[in-house]
Amino acid sequence: MTKKLFAFALIFTLVLTIFSACAPSTSAEESQSGGISIVSTIFPSYDFARQITAGTDAEVTMLLQPGEEVHSFDPTSQDIIRIQNADLFLYVGGENDVWVENVLSGLDQSVDTFRMMDYVTLYEEELVAGMQAEEESESAAADEQEWDEHVWTAPVNAIAIVKAMTAELIAIDPANAKTYQENSDAYVAQLETLDQSFRDVVSSAKRNTVVFADRFPVRYFVEEFGLDYYAAFPGCSAETEPSAATIAALIDHVNAENIPVVFYIEMSNQQMADTVCEATGAKKLLFHTCHNVTKEEFESGATYLSLMQNNVLALKEALN
Ligand SMILES: [Zn+2]
Repeated sequence: MTKKLFAFALIFTLVLTIFSACAPSTSAEESQSGGISIVSTIFPSYDFARQITAGTDAEVTMLLQPGEEVHSFDPTSQDIIRIQNADLFLYVGGENDVWVENVLSGLDQSVDTFRMMDYVTLYEEELVAGMQAEEESESAAADEQEWDEHVWTAPVNAIAIVKAMTAELIAIDPANAKTYQENSDAYVAQLETLDQSFRDVVSSAKRNTVVFADRFPVRYFVEEFGLDYYAAFPGCSAETEPSAATIAALIDHVNAENIPVVFYIEMSNQQMADTVCEATGAKKLLFHTCHNVTKEEFESGATYLSLMQNNVLALKEALN
């Protein structure tokens, strides 16, 4: 009972804060831009919305700053106001978005939301990466099941998400329906070409195994293209200090299978990949998961497509 009252008091305070803080800024924002306002938590959904709304007055923004660590994101009260004022709020939905559900349930009026995980077939989150399984053996109870949230890493999922997002935008802003649909069709065609490029690389490759001496937020990607993998850490584990056994096992796999390329992911300290490459002579290459982009990438206009096209080239090297 006390707990409930406390929660209610918290929400009430939050609502009051939002009311008092946002009243003047709402009208200012509306007069600045005639288009709808779309707020996204992370880069992939931000970029998809940007592609679909290109050429309209829609204002698309990202809560996460370029270069910011995705998993330590903590919304400010300003962020909550931006969500409250958005015409459409885009988020992923997984474990790292628990704060989103809390914020949404505390808003005084509901906001149109788009949850990327609702539009694809989900994989269960791996608690340990394949090769670490022997080391750590705790298994999740059935009721603690978590789904891997990195759904955008497979281009087919990106296509499904873009199509669903287009329908949502058309429903919210029918005046721009024609532009949204045309942009979306052209963008989906490019994503289909990207998907085919990966398929061509995989089907003509000498080998079928990739090594990530890093976190591994690309489960959807490898599953989609039927690749085998060794990774240092599952998903986006907060763990970054590998055990000696993990490093030794990766080195063994690279040596045993003559694997030419060891991947690291964006914004990694690359230490583990360096260690494995020094020990094996393998080449270190970036596989960009598009989770977030650096400031430089953002300013130079990096997109999901451009980053993934670089991945096509990297994968080609890794599999041959
Ligand atoms: Zn992640």
